[in-house]
Amino acid sequence: MPTYEYQCQACGHQLEAFQRITESALKDCPACNKPSLERLISGGAFHLKGGGWYKDGYGSQTGKKPRTENDRIDKLTKTIDEDKKKTAEAESAKASTESTSSEGTGSSTPAPSSGGTSSTSS
Ligand SMILES: [Zn+2]
Repeated sequence: MPTYEYQCQACGHQLEAFQRITESALKDCPACNKPSLERLISGGAFHLKGGGWYKDGYGSQTGKKPRTENDRIDKLTKTIDEDKKKTAEAESAKASTESTSSEGTGSSTPAPSSGGTSSTSS
C-alpha cells in the first residue's frame, strides 16, 4: 500500500497516510480542520495516473522533493512572471540604447562640447 504525503495549504501541517490507490484523497486537515489538504506527489514506487507531468521536459526534477500541484502552478507563474520581467527589462534597455544611438537628429538636447572632442591633449 503506498504512502501518501499530504500538506495543509492553510496551516502547513504535514502528514502521511497509508491509502489504497482507489481511495479518494484526504481533504480535511487534522490540525486546523480546514479542507485544505493537498496530496504531495512523492514520485515513489507506484504510478500515479495523472502524475506524469514532469516526464516531458521536467525529467530532472524526479529526484527532488515532492511538491504539490499548487507549488507547481506557483512555480510556473513565477517563471512566467520572471520571463515578463526580463522581456520588459530588455525592452527598456533596447529603448535606452536606441535613444542614445539615434543622437544627432534630436534637436532637444544641445551638445555641450563644441569642437573640443579630439583636441583634449597635445
Ligand atoms: Zn491545517
